[in-house]
Amino acid sequence: MSEPLLPGATLGILGGGQLGRMFTIAARTMGYRVIVLDPDSLSPAGQMADLHLQADYLDHGALRQLGEACAAVTTEFENVPADSLIELAQHCRVSPGAEAVAIVQDRSREKTWLAQQGFPTAPFALVNDGADIPAACARTGLPALLKVARLGYDGKGQIRVDSVAAAQAAYAELGGQPCVLEGWVALEREVSVVLGRDDAGRCALFPVAENRHANGILDVSIVPARIEARVAEAACAMARAVADQLGYVGVMAVEFFITQAGDLLVNEIAPRPHNSGHYTLDACVTDQFEQQVRMLAGLPAGDTRLLSPVVMVNILGDRWHNGGPHWQRLLGHGNVKLHLYGKQAARPGRKMGHFNVLAAEPAAALALAEELRGAL
Ligand code: AMP
Repeated sequence: MSEPLLPGATLGILGGGQLGRMFTIAARTMGYRVIVLDPDSLSPAGQMADLHLQADYLDHGALRQLGEACAAVTTEFENVPADSLIELAQHCRVSPGAEAVAIVQDRSREKTWLAQQGFPTAPFALVNDGADIPAACARTGLPALLKVARLGYDGKGQIRVDSVAAAQAAYAELGGQPCVLEGWVALEREVSVVLGRDDAGRCALFPVAENRHANGILDVSIVPARIEARVAEAACAMARAVADQLGYVGVMAVEFFITQAGDLLVNEIAPRPHNSGHYTLDACVTDQFEQQVRMLAGLPAGDTRLLSPVVMVNILGDRWHNGGPHWQRLLGHGNVKLHLYGKQAARPGRKMGHFNVLAAEPAAALALAEELRGAL
């Protein structure tokens, strides 16, 4: 893109969840107008936008309206139909492109693509029919995880299996839809890298985050990650190579497993800012949402430098029983930054917000984060 889009221009986003909300806040802070397309009348991003188009992601009229009103459009989730991105691209600049999104929104395509490009992954096999299961188990070994190829998130649509018979039952339980069987990996740690990549292929990487999950959902991110420098460098190099080989433009994340044997495996790619990058909101010169705005607008990447050790803790809807979270316990600390997403209904497992704990010493940030995680 030759001329960058400057404040005053209108940016659009497909999807109105918390990621879209934080994009919208960043863009409006910088003086852009924002239009959100999301079917939900209560969408967290819609509340913050100049205009909320309440329509389905496949609604041709709404897509045309969005494309004509915006100079550029991005997305906040991978399940946006790739066809909608193609349709929008007839009217305005769109990033990321439909091709990259189409690969990563389907776990079968994503895993196959990663393997073809030579990236290390957990052993996997595609399961498109119950009859595929014995050979798939032989290939991945047992135990293994059966994961739906499409629309799974936060550990949903995944079942751990210990035998061929259990895999067959799990496949039926998941509705007989296309799945990927993945060998169970003995994990030492999980880490992720969020990066922004521009039209010219320049990449700006945020520091590696160390991630702890609970019930398949991200619970805590610790930055800097407690890993050797050479492992962090290898993760960054691999994340950059994934972005390059996808020809990706925009902000994306690569999640990695570090095995107990010390190997680095690519777990997943997210074509958008990522929950494990929320620490950047308070701890980096530029946060991942400003970076998304910058990449979309064709501006140079912002400085990704870490200003302070930080620990991010997710706040799930589970905490709303018994009168809700004890906010004063968090807000009584001057080094704790609370972010709530404006969601009305608190359901178990639903991401309602997060907080970042900043401290001069990483161990102090972690200790306070863990204390508050328990006390909330
Ligand atoms: P996913 O949605 O595929 O990222 O899985 C959610 C979480 O489940 C991961 O972050 C891991 O903690 C765990 N997990 C997923 N796949 C595997 C695997 N093959 N082996 C061990 N743990 C896994």
